[in-house]
Amino acid sequence: MNPEEPYKRLCRAMERRGGRYPGMDIPEFYSLAEALFTPEEAEVCAAMPERPAPALLIAEVLGRDPEDVEGILEAMADKGLCSARIKEGRREYVPVPFVPGIFEFQFMRGTTTERDRRIARLIHAYKEAVDRKAGPPKITFPTERVIPIEKSLDSEGQVHTYDQVSYYIDHYKPIAVSTCFCRHEERLLDEEGHCGKPDNVCMQFGVAAHFVIDRKIGREVSKDEAREILRRSEEAGLVHTSRNIQEGIDFICNCCPCHCMILRTALLQPKPGLALSSGFSPVLDPDRCVGCDTCVERCPAQALSLGDWTPRVDLERCFGCGVCASGCPSEAIEMKARPDAPEPPKDRKALREALKSLSS
Ligand code: SF4
Ligand code: SF4
Repeated sequence: MNPEEPYKRLCRAMERRGGRYPGMDIPEFYSLAEALFTPEEAEVCAAMPERPAPALLIAEVLGRDPEDVEGILEAMADKGLCSARIKEGRREYVPVPFVPGIFEFQFMRGTTTERDRRIARLIHAYKEAVDRKAGPPKITFPTERVIPIEKSLDSEGQVHTYDQVSYYIDHYKPIAVSTCFCRHEERLLDEEGHCGKPDNVCMQFGVAAHFVIDRKIGREVSKDEAREILRRSEEAGLVHTSRNIQEGIDFICNCCPCHCMILRTALLQPKPGLALSSGFSPVLDPDRCVGCDTCVERCPAQALSLGDWTPRVDLERCFGCGVCASGCPSEAIEMKARPDAPEPPKDRKALREALKSLSS
């Protein structure tokens, strides 16, 4: 077999798997793919069906011995090149796109080996090359949303369970924490470029948490520790983001606008506040405001500007994160529900359908 063939097939498979950085037939793809996958792993990854499948089925597709294929899939899951889960007592392997998926898994352990640095450089080069070719990403329907800082919410308004981080902490199990892959990638590329925000604040829930705990990509945390991580993130001015669904969330990231892909992608849109939002917006009380401008400095979207006394909000930029309110020394800001805000899709299936209806 031509040694280049598995990587060509992998490129086509990663193109089908889509995501923010799909497979693209450019030199940077092959440099990266050869560093991440052995030829055998590339072959197996390309042959994986798009739904979770046991090793036996993938071996049938390849016409290979199931035990050999299972060994390769296990090594791939350990390296974060696919995901794995137990369903009804049977292990299944799940193909994942580069983003969200393989790129993040590479950095969530927070290690700083020579290999990590090389992978970070190759991923960075690939992302830059894809951005140059494809142009700035356009968000037609948000796949992520912001969850507002809970203590900043209007105490008299209606608050849905999906607006409350505490709901996800209380009801989901297990919960894991890992290193923020976006900030860690920056650290691996350039120690000086790190913004200094907390690193170990990326949280996974349910099936996703099982995977990162099993593969030692992250570690399990108690509900109290999860609450403490959220508190530290809020104090540092980080934005809670998650998948744009009400139930079945798999992560809560705590994002900075300088490194995090979710916020950076939203900030590239003409109206960032429509591309990524919690459905809330800040309302300032001029009688309480002392004009200190802490909120203007903390805002990750540059949605606040100096007014005559109280700052002004640009709703087309505002994510509704509540970072301004939580840092206000005078408690002059309350987050109120926006009357025009759509509900997030109920679950992953509803999100997929919403995305499909836009592309058809
Ligand atoms: S942080 Fe609070 S007190 Fe300071 S300018 Fe903003 S709203 Fe006013
Ligand atoms: S004004 Fe800025 S800090 Fe306040 S909710 Fe909007 S995006 Fe967040």
